[in-house]
Amino acid sequence: MHPKIKLHDMYHARKRINQFVRTTPLVPSESLSSICDADVSLKLENLQVTGSFKFRGATNAVRSLTDEQRKNGIVGFSTGNHGRGLAHAARLAGVKCVICMSELVPQNKVEGIRAQGAEVSILGKSQDDAEVEVERLVKEEGMTLLPPFDHADIIAGQGTIALELIEQASQIDSILVPVSGGGLISGIATVLKTVNPDIKVIGVSMERGAAMYECIQAGKPILVEELPTLADSLGGGIGLANQYTFSITRDLVDDIVLVNEGDIAKAIRHAYWQEKQIIEGSGSVGVAALLSKKFKPAGNCVALVSGCNLDMKLHNRIINGENVKV
Ligand SMILES: *Cc1c(COP(=O)(O)O)cnc(C)c1O
Repeated sequence: MHPKIKLHDMYHARKRINQFVRTTPLVPSESLSSICDADVSLKLENLQVTGSFKFRGATNAVRSLTDEQRKNGIVGFSTGNHGRGLAHAARLAGVKCVICMSELVPQNKVEGIRAQGAEVSILGKSQDDAEVEVERLVKEEGMTLLPPFDHADIIAGQGTIALELIEQASQIDSILVPVSGGGLISGIATVLKTVNPDIKVIGVSMERGAAMYECIQAGKPILVEELPTLADSLGGGIGLANQYTFSITRDLVDDIVLVNEGDIAKAIRHAYWQEKQIIEGSGSVGVAALLSKKFKPAGNCVALVSGCNLDMKLHNRIINGENVKV
């Protein structure tokens, strides 16, 4: 267990965020249970406010700010689900939010963030330029940077999913959790391993650019090349100065399974036709691990479905069987 992040942090987080987040359903999957010969259920965080669990951590972090910090506002540089979660959490709390991004970010992502009420600051041609602006806002305007995963309040917010799960499930033998920077799995593993160390906590990433997996193999945070993938919310590194998620994942997570692009497409398709759920590539990797038999569950297994934000034209092509390349 990490000395600075414990089960009681998730309890406090839950009290803080409960009136703003949805308690998402845990639904048994007949099709996956029969394919895997086990009791498989899906925890549907694709139905969370803003379309992903990131709203939990963002809300916890925003609601944990001091009065002084609230007054000066928050800043982030995520164009994906964390950006959406932050923007919406900040708007609900009446806190100013600036999301910095480069000119390369596609217009639909920019609009997605703006629609949640954030101020978008577009600077330069790369993520590095955007980060320079973030540093300036922190230094000169006293704004608070809320990073996507390596932050105690973010991890505690994501961990509230596991508090719901232990109330919803009569028994959990294993859980499959999508992994990128590791905030989600760190929160969940901290709760579940405290409650019952026998629960197997399994991370799932895509083969193309599995940063946390490579870092665990290397024994320390390293740079990992980012590659195009259907699981685009799982791209990016864990940070060379990682404080929490590397050590928590290394110490508490039983295994990390990797799935390929074909597995991910099949899982999106399966989720739509069999489970009637729209899920993005990153949200589907647990289902992909089960369908591809890269993880073979015994007993009661929960696959966490983490988000639904993908281009619906791409989704349409995938569910209609097209072999898409990203
Ligand atoms: C961010 C994200 C993840 C991974 O979460 P980490 O805390 O970075 O490991 C998984 N799925 C979706 C949909 C996400 O947005």
